[in-house]
Amino acid sequence: MNCPHCKQNLSENHFDMHVQGCWRQERLRILKELQESLCFCGSRKTPRQTFCRKHYALLPANMRSALYSKFGEGYEQAYVAARKHFEPANER
Ligand SMILES: [Zn+2]
Ligand SMILES: [Zn+2]
Repeated sequence: MNCPHCKQNLSENHFDMHVQGCWRQERLRILKELQESLCFCGSRKTPRQTFCRKHYALLPANMRSALYSKFGEGYEQAYVAARKHFEPANER
């Protein structure tokens, strides 16, 4: 089984504890990125906004509105979903 966050291969008895720890780290990283003025792509963005204009414009409406969720109330999940949405474009 692989950790969905760091992709590390884990034995079954360590899985839950590891994934919880990794998700906590991931949430801290997501919160920090929200407060910073750089989008994950390196473009400038407004602090407290998730993405730069270009990336925000690429999101479907339902994903944009999900990013208005409060941190701890769905924001992190919305962030992860949005990043997944960008992934295929990055690989091309
Ligand atoms: Zn992990
Ligand atoms: Zn961007």
